[in-house]
Amino acid sequence: MEFTIYRGSNQVGGTCIEIKSGNSRILLDLGMPLNDKAGKDFLVDPLKGKKVWDKKDISDLKQSWILPDIKGLYQDDEKGFDGILLSHSHGDHFGLLHFANPKIPVVMSLGAMRMIEALNAFIPRQVPLLNTIPATHNKDIQIGGFIVKPYLMDHSAFDARGFFITEKSTGKTLFYSGDFRATGHKENAFKMLVDRPPMKPDYLVLEGTSIGRKGKPEYETEKEAQGGIREVLKQGHRLVLVACSGQNIDRICSLYAEARRAGYEFVVDPYVACVLENLRDLPYAGKIPLLENPGMRVLIHNYGRGDKYMAKIDKDGCKFKPFMAMLGRKKLKPRDMGEGKYMVLMRDGIVPAIKAIPGYKDAFLIYSQWQGYLNKSHMKLTEFVYASGLDKNMKHIHSSGHADVPTLQRLVAALNPGKIIPAHTEKPENYGALFGNNRIKPIPDNAPVYL
Ligand SMILES: [Zn+2]
Ligand SMILES: [Zn+2]
Repeated sequence: MEFTIYRGSNQVGGTCIEIKSGNSRILLDLGMPLNDKAGKDFLVDPLKGKKVWDKKDISDLKQSWILPDIKGLYQDDEKGFDGILLSHSHGDHFGLLHFANPKIPVVMSLGAMRMIEALNAFIPRQVPLLNTIPATHNKDIQIGGFIVKPYLMDHSAFDARGFFITEKSTGKTLFYSGDFRATGHKENAFKMLVDRPPMKPDYLVLEGTSIGRKGKPEYETEKEAQGGIREVLKQGHRLVLVACSGQNIDRICSLYAEARRAGYEFVVDPYVACVLENLRDLPYAGKIPLLENPGMRVLIHNYGRGDKYMAKIDKDGCKFKPFMAMLGRKKLKPRDMGEGKYMVLMRDGIVPAIKAIPGYKDAFLIYSQWQGYLNKSHMKLTEFVYASGLDKNMKHIHSSGHADVPTLQRLVAALNPGKIIPAHTEKPENYGALFGNNRIKPIPDNAPVYL
């Protein structure tokens, strides 16, 4: 098979890899890079506000390095791929998917699809979900010249997948790890994989986000992070704000459990409520806080013309319109939060609502996402944290979504691959010392090789 890394051989984020067998092509992820060529923050969307774009837009985006230059992938070209395998719903893996030709089927887990559906209801540029194939754990999918077996992976994105791929014509095999860890609420997924690994793959495309990171984190597992949250709540603050991604379902489960244990109402905005509600019928959704759960509240704020999220939900055709009544029943206005104990999930978009809560400056802040965001001055939330002095009463409680080196080594020992291809890492040069020099096959970006 022909193997090309477009992005990811020496960066975390922007993952995009092609494998080709004869005329059959599949793409592994189509992510948004975190940084541009010069190492600055990636310019997220130069076409902001433009709902449709033309061929020239695509070619401009390729020229300016926003889109990797791949023939047959985009809307300005004939369909040239049999499928796109999406490992999970983090932007650095699917963030450029809306530029892909919608005729190309996208293989993704049901959980990832539900996450993207929720995003689609609230963002202007939508990822088409017309042509999807469910990536059910352990169930083979035939795509062009390949057989793909998805594996459930423990990661901070909900319902993530790794893929075991067999080239039909040669029998050659490759395992794509996607992003993973062994320390989340789905730690069993990792245990299952190393206890009953798929047959020794010829190649392992292995993420290495944490390789080269120094020092031990304060919270290594999701359970430890949950314990940290418990300790903060014991201090008895009336109002606890939590900066946390609305899609980090493991963390939201931890927060809700501890909020209830300590007698707090758990407050989310309408977008996060829709994310959670959209997982209701998934078989493994048992612990996810749903709207009817005790203590669940929805923060609804008048942003000038009513609540901006509720207005989107109320639009005809919005998948979440049937939830309107239930959201209304759980409604909580910022000005009504002057008394009582509340834990409020806080994101960039709801800063104005937080500012309308009486006494918000005296709140305790749990910063429950990657600490690096606190250095990104362009983020509204970061600006708000410093401007309001919340950083003075703040604790960083977070556990990583990525495997540490011993966990990566456990996976390598269990799978026992012929060769390891570094990806999603800033330190490909460290792989040799960690996994054995003669086992590593580094492949630079944009350099096709035959495996
Ligand atoms: Zn990633
Ligand atoms: Zn990820």
